[in-house]
Amino acid sequence: MTKTITILGSTGSIGDSTLDILARAQAGTYKVVALTANNNAEKLAAQAVKFKADFVALANPEKAGDLKRLLSGTGIEMGVGPQALIEAASRPADFTMAAIIGAAGLEPTLAAVQQGNHIGLANKECLVCAGETFMANVKAHGATLLPVDSEHNAIFQVLESDQPAGVRRLILTASGGPFREHSHEQLKSVTRENALNHPVWSMGAKITIDSATLMNKGLELIEASYLFDRPSSDIDVIVHPQSIIHSMVEYIDGSVLAQLGSPDMRTPIAYAMGWPKRINAPVQRLDFAKLSGLTFFEPDTGKFPALRLARQALETGGQAPTVLNAANEIAVAAFLDGQIAFLDIARSVEQTLEKAAADKAFLQAPKTVEMVVAVDQAAREISREILYMTAL
Ligand code: NDP
Repeated sequence: MTKTITILGSTGSIGDSTLDILARAQAGTYKVVALTANNNAEKLAAQAVKFKADFVALANPEKAGDLKRLLSGTGIEMGVGPQALIEAASRPADFTMAAIIGAAGLEPTLAAVQQGNHIGLANKECLVCAGETFMANVKAHGATLLPVDSEHNAIFQVLESDQPAGVRRLILTASGGPFREHSHEQLKSVTRENALNHPVWSMGAKITIDSATLMNKGLELIEASYLFDRPSSDIDVIVHPQSIIHSMVEYIDGSVLAQLGSPDMRTPIAYAMGWPKRINAPVQRLDFAKLSGLTFFEPDTGKFPALRLARQALETGGQAPTVLNAANEIAVAAFLDGQIAFLDIARSVEQTLEKAAADKAFLQAPKTVEMVVAVDQAAREISREILYMTAL
């Protein structure tokens, strides 16, 4: 049977890997319903033509003319602006890959959730900024969330979810990023180029910077808490530089179950696309005789405060995860733009959280998408003020 599929954020790194699996599948296995992007009209149009999509949506309306010209004569329908992304996500599809970067993915991903089908969730930020609302929607609409983040996908694969009382803890592994062995002094002078050079994973720019600050692991900690309904105290993080073990679950009898594989996102993507069946992924196979060794270290939250801040935000609850995520998005964009130093990222997130905490509503979790968006916008304002109007 042909599976219908939509990819939100098809022009990004996860989008590329998803389409790579699709391209290698037997003809007739998949039918592409919709693809979306932000600015990249050329790539979106080329993907749409190659994969015979029914509909494409571009978030940036200024590129409407380009997209129209590129699709002229193809018969592919198009839309631009935020509403077009919602339309793409709302068209019936058996499987939707949610791979927009950042909180911008929240509303389209929720629109897909509301169709009640299978969602491959790569866009962790939408769960971080709207955890309660998001999971309530998943439940209300009977959607099936299939985690794509490699750590959560690993846990999903080894978690005996029918006996939660048997689970002692979830253990998220972290590569440690490119600066694991840097001193605090060395971290002061790392450049954008250093930070974009991840030792193991090849990913989009924002998540690569998040990996370097360890904020990525912090966002994943919050993501895991919502996805698997576990408090912060049940989730540990361990640095494992080889990224062969993608995460583990420890049970009360002392058993630890892990999922292993090459560090290639096409494995968790294929798992989500095929679920509940296994499908082929064109990844390098593990050769145990050639593995140089698997090592593990405690994360250094003194040197990488972002992980500590994320754990605090999860434990504080209320608006804290939404504020943390928004402040981090602003700071990472500023770092990528050459406006701030590497260490300013976590510093400004901490100051944004402190300032936002003065609001008496801070401890109340936003209950609707509108409330999430309002908290997100307010936090972005505070963060910009801290970054651009004050000395950090
Ligand atoms: P990329 O930056 O490579 O791609 C992001 C995609 O989202 C692109 O299609 C981009 O379009 C689109 N996009 C960006 N901004 C907007 C916006 N404001 N509105 C609508 N669409 C937008 O990101 P990744 O593929 O690396 O990551 C995607 C998600 O998956 C993230 O949440 C990330 O944390 C998660 N993830 C990624 C992994 C990886 O290996 N890359 C691993 C695990 C999780 P355009 O091309 O036009 O800019």
